[in-house]
Amino acid sequence: MSDVPLAQPPLPGPIVVRDARPGISGLSPDRLQAWFQERGEPAYRVRQVEDAVWRSSASTMADVATLPAALRDALEGAVRFDTVGETELRFADGGNTEKALHRLSDGALVESVLMHYPAGVGRRERHTLCISSQAGCAVGCPFCATGELGFTRDLETAEIVDQVRHAARRLAADGRHLTNVVYMGMGEPLLNLDRVLESIEALNDPARLGLGARHITVSTSGVVPGMRRLTALGPQFTLAVSLHAARDALRDVLVPLNRRWPVAEVVAAAIDHAAATGRRVSYEVTLIDGVNDTDLDATAMAELLRGQRAHVNLIPMNPVAHTPWRASPMDRIETFAGLLRSAGVQTTIRRNRGQEIGAACGQLAAERAGEPPVAAVDRRRRLLIDASLAALRGERSDEPSPVGVGD
Ligand code: SF4
Repeated sequence: MSDVPLAQPPLPGPIVVRDARPGISGLSPDRLQAWFQERGEPAYRVRQVEDAVWRSSASTMADVATLPAALRDALEGAVRFDTVGETELRFADGGNTEKALHRLSDGALVESVLMHYPAGVGRRERHTLCISSQAGCAVGCPFCATGELGFTRDLETAEIVDQVRHAARRLAADGRHLTNVVYMGMGEPLLNLDRVLESIEALNDPARLGLGARHITVSTSGVVPGMRRLTALGPQFTLAVSLHAARDALRDVLVPLNRRWPVAEVVAAAIDHAAATGRRVSYEVTLIDGVNDTDLDATAMAELLRGQRAHVNLIPMNPVAHTPWRASPMDRIETFAGLLRSAGVQTTIRRNRGQEIGAACGQLAAERAGEPPVAAVDRRRRLLIDASLAALRGERSDEPSPVGVGD
């Protein structure tokens, strides 16, 4: 699917050179310490900076009143206090979903979504932020607006972390605090794994954000070597696998990475992660009417996950432009869920958040990218229909894996 010639106009906005200064929130305490030591500054300056970055309402270096002006100027020349520039906010679901579109220093656009869950019986109030790890994505899942945009670049550590700082500041202004972070926004986190791991370290570190590992979820469309590396690190992060189909023929179409790492390999790596961490793996399944919501697919998924430490989330497909598909009807989703549950697989049906503001990953950025030519859209739709019909007949795709993925 990756070579469908859908014209992709560049993201609008001024052409600007990327700011070469690293973001301060992406620097490890050791690097920060070394910077101050080289200048003969006392060790407590590191703590002052960490307080300003993580526990104050300061949004620029100039706001950091605890540091002398000369030191603020020196820091300003060496690092950026915030790597996430201009941010546009949209609200939906009665204020319970906040979508942020962030413009980075080179004009790249990325999105984060803050979801508020009120307290319920035996359940505390939660504020979960979904963040991006790449601008665009190379995997090219055809039901995803980010996949359609194509890949722009990996995000820097601070560009990932600063999406969290922005949301944490907005929450703190209302006396609330962030409870969960999920790496499920734009991009495939395990294809930018080094930067993602550094960002997790910053979020997890008690001296910085201090969010428990169990409150951090990393999602993947199935980059098996990255999954194994994550497992080997040990901490109890939750792993979420974008499964979408249990049969290879269909998954080849819905998650083109499947042509490189087939579903059995992905699930085997996820099972090992669950065994090593004691954490249940979450499997995300976007249900598309008449494509992957058949009884045959539910049964195949039940067989794949039967007896595993697994939780399936069924999500009706968000309306995404330029596909021939739509969300499965709710009665079909309930039947699918029933077949999984009858095999003992824990299953939840999730409702879509913030559809009226394009809350699914990549939708706002895609909106800004403009409309591709009608002929290209028609061709893509025809190819998707042909590919999904072939998949329903059980025929594997002969397309290569996406360029630059899984080499
Ligand atoms: S669903 Fe995830 S992996 Fe697939 S194209 Fe979208 S962002 Fe990339």
